Amino acid sequence: MSSPITIVKPETPFRDVMDGASRMEARVLDHGFVALVDAMPRLVPEGQTADQAVVQAARVSYGQGTKQVSEDAGLIRYLLRHRHTTPFEMVEFKFHVCMPIFIARQWIRHRTANVNEYSGRYSILPDRFYTPTVDAIRKQSQANRQGGEETFAISDEAEERTAKEFLAFLKDVETQYTRYIDLTKKGVSRELARIGLPVNMYTEWYWKCDLHNLLHFLGLRMDSHAQYEIRVFAEAMFRLIEPIVPVCAQAWRDYHFEAMHLSRLEIEALRGLRSGGDGQIKSENKRERAEWEAKRARLDL
Ligand SMILES: Cc1cc2nc3c(=O)[nH]c(=O)nc-3n(C[C@H](O)[C@H](O)[C@H](O)COP(=O)(O)OP(=O)(O)OC[C@H]3O[C@@H](n4cnc5c(N)ncnc54)[C@H](O)[C@@H]3O)c2cc1C
Repeated sequence: MSSPITIVKPETPFRDVMDGASRMEARVLDHGFVALVDAMPRLVPEGQTADQAVVQAARVSYGQGTKQVSEDAGLIRYLLRHRHTTPFEMVEFKFHVCMPIFIARQWIRHRTANVNEYSGRYSILPDRFYTPTVDAIRKQSQANRQGGEETFAISDEAEERTAKEFLAFLKDVETQYTRYIDLTKKGVSRELARIGLPVNMYTEWYWKCDLHNLLHFLGLRMDSHAQYEIRVFAEAMFRLIEPIVPVCAQAWRDYHFEAMHLSRLEIEALRGLRSGGDGQIKSENKRERAEWEAKRARLDL
């Protein structure tokens, strides 16, 4: 009996979205990196980008309906604007990342990725420690309890002393590494010996995520409220994927990342401004008022 299955291969010439590279790496901080190691779709019809997979998925789900939005870029921009998210899950990226452990702790909170991390139980942790440069040591922000913005001025003697004291503190902690190695040589298990090591040590993982959730991650971690050390990784990731999904990346910038959300109270304040009001929002909440002031400044109002 002949097989009821026929494999059909299209003739269309395809191109590799990573141009044949097995790895595209961005160096980040002093010992870190983020490398794009794979993408789906990897092959796209000649002359197209991986944006094509979003369009392909949308057209199957919308069927005839998409004929109104004839142009592919227009369709992607429509989907992103209206939060039709599932077509963006058809694109995936796999990264190999090396980042300080304190950054990995923030990163792992994003639950929609697949992760495999280097194991300090199986292997000795390499001696890579994150140390900021002396002119990049941030002071505790007075306005934001979570943040540090302004750096210590190395032109100021007292401030430079404090910055150097911080670096000396990091150096001291680093000396624990030799003891860690010694203790493992004396037979202490790797899983216990490592617990005396600091969180500025680097760890590594493979991190795979679809485009929808990756953009959500980037929106939170490229934002100015995110800690500088994770922000630089997020920015590097965006730079790696931007040429692969240029239309999605631009639409995301336009409608999400660089867009502005207005609350009902803010819309009322805006309306009030137009009719001679003071433009203040009716809220007792200090932070909410400050956020509105920041938006007004951005809008030159
Ligand atoms: C600037 C900043 C400061 C932060 N500060 C703190 C802090 O002080 N303390 C702290 O603990 N965390 C903090 N976080 C982490 C934050 O609360 C989130 O856990 C993290 O940003 C992941 O966000 P997410 O859940 O939207 O993302 P993901 O886990 O990537 O999930 C993406 C989306 O999937 C959906 N989803 C995923 N899992 C579930 C689920 N189980 N149930 C329902 N929906 C789900 C949600 O819609 C979610 O938005 C901070 C994050 C940022 C960006």
